[in-house]
Amino acid sequence: MPKRIFTFSRGSAERPADAAEALGLKGANLALLASLDLPVPPGFTVATSAWREAKSESNALPQALRADLRAGIEWLESVTGRRFDGDVRPLLLAARTSARVQMPGIAESVLDIGLNDRTVDVLARELNDAAFAYRSYRRFIESYASLVLDADPAEFEEISDAEGERAGWTEEPQTVADWRALIACYHAHIDRELGAVVPQTPLEQLTNVLAASFASWRHPVATSHRLLHGVPENAGLAVTVHAMIFNERNQKSGRGRAVSRDLTTGESRLSGEFTLGARGSGEIGDSAPVFDLAALASEDPAGFPADLSELTQHVRRLEAHVCDAVEVDFMIGDGALFLMQSRVARRTAAEAIRVAVELTKEEIIEENEAILRIDPASLDLLLHPTIERSDDYVVLGRGMPASPGAATGEIAFSTERVQARAKEDRTVILVRNETYPEDIHGMHLADGVLTIRGGTTSHAAVVARGIGKPCVTGAGSLRINAETGTLFAGDRVLKEGDEITIDGSSGEVIVGAVALLRPSLTGDFATLMEFADRARRMGVRTNAETPIEARSARAFGAEGIGLCRTEHMFFEGDRIQAMREMILASDAEGRRAALDKLLPIQRSDFVELFEIMAGLPVTIRLLDPPLHEFLPKSDGEIAETAAMLSVDEAVVRQRIAGLEEFNPMLGHRGCRLAISYPEIVEMQARAIFEAAIEAGEKTGDAVVPEIMVPLVSLRRELDFVKERVDRVAALVTAERGRGIDYHVGTMIELPRAIVRADTIAEVADFFSFGTNDLTQTVYGISRDDAANFLSTYIRQGILERDPFQTVDVEGVGELIAMAVEKARRTRPDITLGVCGEQGGDPASIAFFEETGLDYVSCSPFRVPIARLAAAQSAIRFSRASGRGGRNRRQDG
Ligand code: PEP
Ligand code: MG
Repeated sequence: MPKRIFTFSRGSAERPADAAEALGLKGANLALLASLDLPVPPGFTVATSAWREAKSESNALPQALRADLRAGIEWLESVTGRRFDGDVRPLLLAARTSARVQMPGIAESVLDIGLNDRTVDVLARELNDAAFAYRSYRRFIESYASLVLDADPAEFEEISDAEGERAGWTEEPQTVADWRALIACYHAHIDRELGAVVPQTPLEQLTNVLAASFASWRHPVATSHRLLHGVPENAGLAVTVHAMIFNERNQKSGRGRAVSRDLTTGESRLSGEFTLGARGSGEIGDSAPVFDLAALASEDPAGFPADLSELTQHVRRLEAHVCDAVEVDFMIGDGALFLMQSRVARRTAAEAIRVAVELTKEEIIEENEAILRIDPASLDLLLHPTIERSDDYVVLGRGMPASPGAATGEIAFSTERVQARAKEDRTVILVRNETYPEDIHGMHLADGVLTIRGGTTSHAAVVARGIGKPCVTGAGSLRINAETGTLFAGDRVLKEGDEITIDGSSGEVIVGAVALLRPSLTGDFATLMEFADRARRMGVRTNAETPIEARSARAFGAEGIGLCRTEHMFFEGDRIQAMREMILASDAEGRRAALDKLLPIQRSDFVELFEIMAGLPVTIRLLDPPLHEFLPKSDGEIAETAAMLSVDEAVVRQRIAGLEEFNPMLGHRGCRLAISYPEIVEMQARAIFEAAIEAGEKTGDAVVPEIMVPLVSLRRELDFVKERVDRVAALVTAERGRGIDYHVGTMIELPRAIVRADTIAEVADFFSFGTNDLTQTVYGISRDDAANFLSTYIRQGILERDPFQTVDVEGVGELIAMAVEKARRTRPDITLGVCGEQGGDPASIAFFEETGLDYVSCSPFRVPIARLAAAQSAIRFSRASGRGGRNRRQDG
């Protein structure tokens, strides 16, 4: 038979093996505190096993539980020397739900169980305080009626007001007779309106509260919370029942929260706050005095109604036990101190790092433990401005949190407008339905980007993350009216030039300006990163193509460039014209002439990147997107291009029409372009080799460029491109009279490339998994349209998370592992990396560690996150080494 009730009192606790599972967080925590001989109110936890039984019996409490409850009460009576329903010293109980994870929507606590029309007077006599006893009774009836009978709390307020008016009191009843009359009104109301009673038998009160607490698991808020956060339906609810502490009774009572450290300095000293128990109204309200514990400890310990040094000792004891800063909720009843709950101290990201580094210095924890203590995602908050939270801002709409950080600026609907306003030193948010490569310049100048369409791997999202600009995508409830130059949501209309704030960490779009907190990277941050670098196995590179990105990535600790998307280099200034000239040329000769103009530009771009990366690996990807992305769109641009090329507009239009595709993502792109137009590859390869020589000579650091071929599915595609690259290398070698060291590899982003990874590896020095395209092609889900329906999938529980953000281990992940295995079989020393968005996602990084990849590559601002996540994955992996990773290289 399952054990249903687990008792605890100071110095002893019944603790099952998996306490959190059986007793929920609060129950497990009280058992821990009790077992550490810390002062807790005596009580017992009704375990999740009882909830499961009740659930299987349509929520009726099992008979056996009733018997267990009686035994639990008897035990409590003997420990406290009080009696449930007693004629003297009545036992009063508090019942609190205790779930395994925090869950909004479930029942809160019910206090003073055990009070009835008779024991209220017994209590009044015991404490010599009738007002306190009746106040407690009233509160019990209200919360019982609300939880068990589903009564509306506002009704009791009305009854109280009416009764006060009738009997001539205002705040609360003044005499016992007044109190009794009020309680009688409550009873009458419950009988008349709810057809029920508040039981006078304490045991019945307790069982009904338990049953209702269990049933609250199905509250719609709790249900949707579970859905949203992936908490299983049978996670389980326990209820903790303990003796009441009268913390609001007099000047020797109160409650507070004590923290073992000063979290901003990391120093070991008591901090927190304490509210002195209230008089009069009996409620702890705004008027009750609040004390700063740190100040009390240093200035006036006697102002604390219990022994403050005792509290300090308890908190220290607990900190030593969990080896981390802790906070405890405590109560004081008539001078006696009780710990009610403890947890690892809640802290901001910066405080978490401070405390972890400090604990390492004090040799309380080791470096690896400090690394594991920090949530990599929380670093985002330290690297970007955040919104100072307040209730008084107006949210215009919500979208996808596509690139973290917050920004305020005027609305600009076009890159031209951004340029104009930025010139006048205005801060600007670029607002578009979606962005295209030609918007990149505007995105660089803007302070943030908002798009109405698109998901977290849309063009806007990927570019914004790369350049560290806050971005919200897919804000579908907003609309842009291009004709009137307005942005609207429902009735609210904003004009171009009006100010908005976007929060790329939450997806919120806010009307007007909001105060922003600026990031500051302290010494502790750097220390933590040093710890991480010592612990990790995988390398961390960055996806970067501009000098700004490359420099910031280096500052964040990137160990090279894992993906330089060369297409982004062709949009600025005159380049786009030369590019268009190349695309619109009618033959190879014409294309070569245009490419000759692009060559010096590409070369100087690469020289700069190689110089910044100073000998670190730089992976340059050959042109990938379909050519039509570079072509003019508006009539004005078409006319301009025609004039530049001295051709008829119709010719330009005809060529544009000729390049149009039904599915450009699956069309003429990637290495397919290189095969149709090898002269593009030749120009890019030449630019890379010449730049490598030039940068190497300038800096003295030899440059070994890595040339990456996109969207390969056939080995012969790679053969074809590699042959062209090798030929150019031989030419440049002959011209310069010196050899060039370089690598040629491929992106793995198509299912066929995975299946044929062993043969492709015969010609590839390296593989880089492009998980954006790979996820797109394995699922057959367009990465640009996914946002429209993936959220529904997640809401419905069909998918747990967005597979574009976090690798789908069972599907796409399985394929990656297969490719790794095949590749290493052919070429054991092949370098394997990942450069899709998942390269910066901690959960995916754990998988890449397990799969044995050599490095991850991510946008510059995610580099510290990836360093930390890679370190955590390495530590966890080696701790669980019995688990056995797949395909890990023996020397790695
Ligand atoms: C990818 O597909 O994962 C990738 C990195 O390439 P892109 O996002 O440029 O298609
Ligand atoms: Mg790709």
